Amino acid sequence: MRVLTHLCCGPCGIMALRRLLAAGHEVTGFFFNPNIHPLAEYLRRREGAAAVCRRLRAPLLAADALPRWEQDWEEEGRAALAAYPQPPEIAPCASPRTTRPPPSGSLPPAVDPRFWLRLMAGREAERCPLCQGIRLAVTVRIALKRGFEAFSSSLLYSRHQDHEGIRRTAESLAASSGLRFIYEDWRLFWQEGVDLSRAWGIYRQQYCGCLYSEYDRYARDGGKAWGG
Ligand code: SF4
Repeated sequence: MRVLTHLCCGPCGIMALRRLLAAGHEVTGFFFNPNIHPLAEYLRRREGAAAVCRRLRAPLLAADALPRWEQDWEEEGRAALAAYPQPPEIAPCASPRTTRPPPSGSLPPAVDPRFWLRLMAGREAERCPLCQGIRLAVTVRIALKRGFEAFSSSLLYSRHQDHEGIRRTAESLAASSGLRFIYEDWRLFWQEGVDLSRAWGIYRQQYCGCLYSEYDRYARDGGKAWGG
């Protein structure tokens, strides 16, 4: 089966891709993660995902390299918002520069944090299901456009995220799209993935992706990152 597999980073992609390939699927990786900030971190993780795909001889589609019209993911973002209460009204910014859409010819929309931050503003408490849902929904959209039969996501490898919530969202996207969702609990192969990522020299991140998660990660550390 031709499976488009959403990749959140290199280390999480290793066991996802290996298990799908071992099951006989024809697998393409799809790096779509507008939640990874700042841009330098995004590029490190993108290179990690690319390195894993090269090792496993799986092609990689990077969302930021798709044509611009395929990178327009705000529609999925807005649809996902329907499930959440409206945030309190946010006063418009006085500076017109920050409310204008990014100029054409700038960096690709897939890496422009303004889209992501605008969707999350006022909904920070529910940001994770929204963030995961958008990434899965865009994976399904690209899979349909490009003739894949099935989809999956390396998010299912994470021990830190809401595994059952991710599974439910993917199942509901499969039901509405007609694509097959390939599920396996890749957390069972956690240590094997960690060992391979170290052996292969794949970049291993220190926080989930967004600036909120970076703050939380170092706050949990008791401020050691500050030398405190
Ligand atoms: S913590 Fe991770 S899953 Fe949650 S919103 Fe941030 S990047 Fe997305």
